[in-house]
Amino acid sequence: QPSSTTADSSAVFSYPQPDGKPVAVEFRQVSKSFGPHQVIRNVDLRVTAGEVVAVCGPSGSGKSTLIRMINHLETLTSGEILVHTQPTSGLSGKALRELRTHIGFVFQQFNLYAHLDALDNVSLALVKVHGWKPVQARQKASELLERVGLADRAHHFPSQLSGGQQQRVAIARALVTDPKIILFDEPTSALDPEMIGEVLQVMQALAHSGITMIVVTHEMSFAREIADRVVFMDGGEILEQADPESFFTRPVHPRAQRFLQKVL
Ligand code: ADP
Ligand code: MG
Repeated sequence: QPSSTTADSSAVFSYPQPDGKPVAVEFRQVSKSFGPHQVIRNVDLRVTAGEVVAVCGPSGSGKSTLIRMINHLETLTSGEILVHTQPTSGLSGKALRELRTHIGFVFQQFNLYAHLDALDNVSLALVKVHGWKPVQARQKASELLERVGLADRAHHFPSQLSGGQQQRVAIARALVTDPKIILFDEPTSALDPEMIGEVLQVMQALAHSGITMIVVTHEMSFAREIADRVVFMDGGEILEQADPESFFTRPVHPRAQRFLQKVL
């Protein structure tokens, strides 16, 4: 178990990035094993507040596990993850709910509640977790549905929506608590090709609006055109990090080169 959660050690990590911007998420020597199988190996990573980071790499390389650990959908085996300089190991109950309020998560398979319409899917957390009055929560939810272009689908159930529409509802739901950070796990991988664009458009509008975005994606166009930085993973390690232009035109690591030859 990580032990360095004292006030002293967190102060050490509260220094700003060289460019003066605060750090939103920091991995310090993070490892993760499932039983005997180590899937994340000593990862160090710092994401600046407001930054858009694309995480790419082959299937099974640990991308989902990496981002799921940030909001504790997976536990760490060792190391530490700091969110806005605060250590997050050992959080539970109210503190964990608080952390998740600040970190939205968008899943590959949308994970909407089938028995709730779009509006209630988006407003539910405000009512159940934050004690908002339903009428106010629905007001806020309808603003978010409008933001993702679904004002006219508020009373549709997930089964009545296309995949692209469902994923946009899921993004609205992830944003309803005004998170400072939003994590996407292959948000377009379950979509028919003709629906990918509408979801990427919503993500593009969100990028550089102040929110910190970490996006696991196989959409190389998104990584190239929208991300500030590309992180390449393989075998549970970060093998390369670079600005998109450098990564796509002159990848350094042989495995990054091989990966790009396959996907581009
Ligand atoms: P990626 O998202 O890059 O495809 P994952 O993070 O999903 O990779 O998985 C990394 C490795 O961890 C894979 O070998 C996968 O089989 C394994 N893994 C992921 N989740 C679990 C789990 N809950 N139990 C056991 N092994 C898992
Ligand atoms: Mg994955």
